[in-house]
Amino acid sequence: MKLIILAAPGAGKGTQAEMLSKHFEIPTISTGAILRKNMEDGTELGAVAKNYINEGKFVPDELIIDIVKNRLNEDDCKNGFILDGFPRNLAQAEALDKSGIDIDAVLTLEVKDDEIVERLSGRLECKKCGSSFHKEHRKPEIDGICDNCGGELRVREDDKPEVIRDRLKTYYEQTEPLKEYYKNKGMLKVAVGKSEIKATTQEVLKVLEA
Ligand code: ADP
Ligand code: ZN
Repeated sequence: MKLIILAAPGAGKGTQAEMLSKHFEIPTISTGAILRKNMEDGTELGAVAKNYINEGKFVPDELIIDIVKNRLNEDDCKNGFILDGFPRNLAQAEALDKSGIDIDAVLTLEVKDDEIVERLSGRLECKKCGSSFHKEHRKPEIDGICDNCGGELRVREDDKPEVIRDRLKTYYEQTEPLKEYYKNKGMLKVAVGKSEIKATTQEVLKVLEA
């Protein structure tokens, strides 16, 4: 299964990508996580990315396209992958088309705007492994500690209210039109997000099998 997940920030695409990754035993390639890892490690890429990310803007296409192409050519992606956070605009979608990497389906997660803001503003991220939690909806077993790796949880820099607004704006201007793009190619599968993570995964699996 070679899958793209396309959804607004905070719609739960990272979480669903994680679930699908376990279900299908294929890796998730999250461009946001790759960039944050680089920021954390203090690489050159991280230093460039930081300026864009913390303002709710996209990182330049050339950078992202290269990262994704290289990553998808690695061995573990041979039997499938889940792309979380790429493509995010038309130029990226066209670059992916041209790369010759075949995609089976594009899954969208539909979640209402006010729900999105509520989710983003309570989100916590593991400093070490990048897993995400929520203050209300997905509490870690121990306060402030990651269930998966024991790492420390923090609020993402770009989950501050001012930045959330800009990220949503960027999403609606640049990413949302991709639904039409993939719909025209007959690749779009639409899942309606539920309030429970597991219920959403069930819905997603149903939509993917249909
Ligand atoms: P979200 O989708 O919740 O905003 P991500 O972790 O997917 O979070 O992305 C965080 C940030 O990383 C984005 O706001 C953007 O600045 C940058 N980013 C991630 N993927 C891309 C991409 N494909 N193109 C450009 N920028 C990206
Ligand atoms: Zn962790």
